[in-house]
Amino acid sequence: MRIDVFSIFPEYLAALDLSLIGKARQDGLLDVRVHDLRAFTTDRHRTVDDTPYGGGAGMVMKPEPWSQALASSLADAGAGDTAGTRPVLIVPSPAGEVFTQATAYELAEAEHLVFACGRYEGIDERVLEWAGENFDVRPMSLGDYVLNGGEVAVLAMVEAIGRLVPGVVGNPESLVEESHSDGLLEYPVYTKPSIWRERAIPEVLLSGNHAKIARFRRDEQLRRTSERRPDLLAKLDPASLDKADRAT
Ligand code: SAM
Repeated sequence: MRIDVFSIFPEYLAALDLSLIGKARQDGLLDVRVHDLRAFTTDRHRTVDDTPYGGGAGMVMKPEPWSQALASSLADAGAGDTAGTRPVLIVPSPAGEVFTQATAYELAEAEHLVFACGRYEGIDERVLEWAGENFDVRPMSLGDYVLNGGEVAVLAMVEAIGRLVPGVVGNPESLVEESHSDGLLEYPVYTKPSIWRERAIPEVLLSGNHAKIARFRRDEQLRRTSERRPDLLAKLDPASLDKADRAT
């Protein structure tokens, strides 16, 4: 998968060199390229922002550097995009669609993702309209709060998407049994010692009875989701619940 990130703070994205995503880059599973938006300016001051039309506080990111930057990602990727597939342009924004695990699974199938990190009051809206001629444009929010810029959102999204690309996480089973993979939160997990500060782990986990352990974990998933995220339970397809689930 090819990933381009444009930002006025490319150093912010240095964390993409670390851990599993960094290793996936080294192994050639993820081709991540971080670009300085200011490289696409033409004036002496490398200006990327200007005052908003209509007045109001703050500055708005100018369209021209963005159009040059995005055009470069198209030209550069070139033959990398198979005929018929358009790159996905993800524009982090608190006014976007909320990014979820389902979005991460969907985007993990893409060949080419381009991230446009906004700053100030955001990017001139015409850039998104114009980009729609060549990209699938997805304004995407991390959640209902406001960050200073898109970089933190991109770190989160690239990690969530990248770990779903085959080969990035060593044991693919660990992706199946985790929060949000089946619409529920994950069950609690424990490791050695079995008694720690007078707290014992649930006895069933020592029983060796796989069916009983699976039932215990499923019950814990349902209990935890109902306590912490009743909104997720409400969205669950009733057909995905078995008889024992309904009794929990
Ligand atoms: N004026 C914008 C608004 O109210 O919608 C907020 C701009 S914010 C200060 C600057 C940039 O941070 C945004 O362009 C976006 O890239 C990023 N950002 C802020 N909150 C975000 C969120 N919840 N999810 C994703 N990106 C966010």
